[in-house]
Amino acid sequence: MVKEMKFYDLLGVKPGVSDQELKKAYRKLALKYHPDKNPDAGDKFKEISQAFETLSDPKKRKIYDEGGEEALKEGGGDSGFHNPMDIFDMFFGGGGSRGGRGSNRQRKTKDVIHQLNVRLAELYNGATRRLAIQKNVLCDKCGGKGGNKEGAVQQCTQCRGTGVEIHIRQLGPGMITQMQSVCSQCHGEREIIREEDKCRKCEGHKVVRERKLLEVHINKGMSDGKTVRFQGEGDQHPEMEAGDVVIVLEEEAHPVFTRKHHDLHMRMQLNLSEALCGFRREIRTLDDRILLIKSEPGQVIHEGQMKAIDNEGMPHLKNPYEKGMLVIQFEVKFPPSNFLTDAKKLSQLQSLLPAAPKVNQEFSKQELAEAEECNMQEYVPTNNAGRGERAGPRGGFPSGHPFSSFFGGAGHHRQDSDDDDDDGTHHAGGGGGGVECATQ
Ligand SMILES: [Zn+2]
Ligand SMILES: [Zn+2]
Repeated sequence: MVKEMKFYDLLGVKPGVSDQELKKAYRKLALKYHPDKNPDAGDKFKEISQAFETLSDPKKRKIYDEGGEEALKEGGGDSGFHNPMDIFDMFFGGGGSRGGRGSNRQRKTKDVIHQLNVRLAELYNGATRRLAIQKNVLCDKCGGKGGNKEGAVQQCTQCRGTGVEIHIRQLGPGMITQMQSVCSQCHGEREIIREEDKCRKCEGHKVVRERKLLEVHINKGMSDGKTVRFQGEGDQHPEMEAGDVVIVLEEEAHPVFTRKHHDLHMRMQLNLSEALCGFRREIRTLDDRILLIKSEPGQVIHEGQMKAIDNEGMPHLKNPYEKGMLVIQFEVKFPPSNFLTDAKKLSQLQSLLPAAPKVNQEFSKQELAEAEECNMQEYVPTNNAGRGERAGPRGGFPSGHPFSSFFGGAGHHRQDSDDDDDDGTHHAGGGGGGVECATQ
C-alpha cells in the first residue's frame, strides 16, 4: 500500500508499475503536454516530469511510496527536481547537441519530436508512411538575409550587434550594478533592416514557412517507442544549423494480438465440447495468412491453458526472418445452467464423463444424517478493498545514478535490448519549434 497516489495518477499508472510501462506512460504524456505542442497546459508538463523523475528512481520511489511528497521534500540528498525540459531531452536521447539552455547563441535549432501512430501490422510487415510537416526554411528571395538591397541589413548600432544592452546603474557612492536586457532597438536580432528595404517575401524574417513531405520507413520488427530521425529536417535559421525531426512510433492496440517483446499473445474461447472433444480453428495473421490450429485426437484443453506456435510472433528487427512465438491462451466457456433439461440425457452425459470422486468418507453416518442443508447464493464481494494494493516494483532495479537506470545507462533492465539497434544519432531535444506535422 502506498501513502499517496498523486504521482501515479498523474502518469495514469498503478503502484508496482514496471519500468517499461512507466516510460511508456511518460512518453505519451510528455509528448502531449510539451509546451511547444500544448502551450495552454500550464503546469501539467512540469508535474508529469516530477512524477516521472520520482517514480523512475527506485530510491525516490521508495521514499515517495512510504512517505508521500512530504517525505521527498525532507528526503536526504537532492530532493529538488530537475528542469522538466532536461528530463524530456534526456528521455528522448540527448540535448547535448545544443548550446546550453538559456545561452543566447545556439548552434542548432531545436529538434522537433512527433508521435506517429502505427498499426501492429505495419510493425510486422514494414511500411512507409508519409508525414507532412510545416517548417521554417531560408527565404530564397533574399537568401536568408532579410533584405535584398546592398547594405539593407545593418548591424544594430544600439547593441553593436550583440543583441543585448548593458545598463550600468550607480546605487550609491562606489556601488555600481550592471543589468543586462534584450536590445530595445533590434529586439535581440542584432541587426536592423530598414522598413522599405525589407524583403517582400519574408518581410525581413529571413525564413518562410514551407510544407514538406517526409517518408517514414517503418522496418519490420520495430517496436513501440522506436524513434526515426530525419537529420537536419527541423527549422532552418540563417545562423544556425537546422535541428532534426524525430518521429516516435506509437503502437496502436490490436483487437486480437497483444505484443510482448517478440511474442504475440491472443486469447481463444472454446466451448466445453471443443475443449473436451476437440476443436479446429483458423487465425488470420498480421500478413494475412490463415493459420489452422486443431487439437490432437483425445486432447483436452482446460481453462487458462497456454499453447505456443513457433515463428508466428513478431519479426526481430535485426533479422526479420526470425520471429517470436504466437501464444494462445484458452478460455473454456461452460454451457449455461439448465442447458440439459432432459434428465435422461443428463445421466447419459454423466455416464460418459469421468465418475465423481468418492467424498465424505471422513464423516460418520450420523454426522451425515445431521448435516444442515444450506442455501448457496451468488457471491458479491463487499466493497472494502482499497485501491492500489500492489506496491513495490515488479523487477529488481539496478542501483546507480538516478537517471542511469532509466535513460539507458549501464545495467539498465530493458526487455528488447537485443533489438535496440538505434542509429546512434540520438540527440533529440525539445519539441516544437514552429514545425507541425500531419499524417497523410
Ligand atoms: Zn540591438
Ligand atoms: Zn526574404
